[in-house]
Amino acid sequence: MLLHNIEELRDQRSEWKNLTVGLVPTMGALHEGHLSLIKKAKETCDKVVVSVFVNPIQFGPSEDFDKYPRTLDKDMELCEKEGVDIVFAPTPETMYGKGNRLSNDTLTYVCPPFFYVNKLCGKTRIGHFDGVCTVVLKLFNIVQPDYAFFGQKDAQQVVIIKKMVNDLNVPVEIVQCPIVREESGLALSSRNKYLSEEGKKDALVLSKILNNIKSCYKHGITDIKALKETAYSFLGDKHELEYLEVLNKNTLEEQVKADDDSIALIACRVEGVRLIDNIYLCE
Ligand code: AMP
Repeated sequence: MLLHNIEELRDQRSEWKNLTVGLVPTMGALHEGHLSLIKKAKETCDKVVVSVFVNPIQFGPSEDFDKYPRTLDKDMELCEKEGVDIVFAPTPETMYGKGNRLSNDTLTYVCPPFFYVNKLCGKTRIGHFDGVCTVVLKLFNIVQPDYAFFGQKDAQQVVIIKKMVNDLNVPVEIVQCPIVREESGLALSSRNKYLSEEGKKDALVLSKILNNIKSCYKHGITDIKALKETAYSFLGDKHELEYLEVLNKNTLEEQVKADDDSIALIACRVEGVRLIDNIYLCE
């Protein structure tokens, strides 16, 4: 069932009083990565809601909000195949009101702590995680799920959402799901659509760098500087590295030496498309 309004969603939700409800928040253009979250939600919950909302307040002014792929008919088909109970696809006006300027001088925002935001994607995507936390908390309040499903693909996002849920006592259990990749190793992303065939090949460098770091760690290299330096032999002029970090996977704290709780994270532009990926060094 496709719903666009909050009232309709709430009416439907009120009929599920004694059932467990799972929410899978997405921006649509669904692929196997999203479907893995939906499958996990179906396994865990009686009812599953998938939200499809390209959230304007998590995009910076020079980012791809306008050209972000919008494929609601196809998304509906995929969700129906997976047995999703509700696809919730509100408009920006429904979420943020008509005539509001989408900024924190007219709207209440959720601002996650600086420590978690002032690194990795948050360093260049100013305000991004404020936008993410704000929309996710709104979706939690609208849908009132028991469980919400997020991908490790956006590792910083999951850590920040877990922190928000904990700090604000939000009664939702966050379930993190593994990264789904193409056979080549490329992590699935709606933004892969922007890449040419050649760009997709060049993009393999992200997973190659991460796998190599993991393999070096498994062979006993724990010095983080040394681990990061292994990346340089993979990078060429097609790659614009934004960051490569090895941090604690739960807290995003810097470490002196890598350990079994470390995560390696990378952001790199290929053909101007900003791609991210990560890997746990021990799993
Ligand atoms: P998005 O539509 O990009 O906002 O993503 C919605 C959810 O799907 C987020 O929790 C993402 O982390 C998750 N996701 C996106 N790509 C993947 C992937 N390749 N594997 C697993 N989860 C993913």
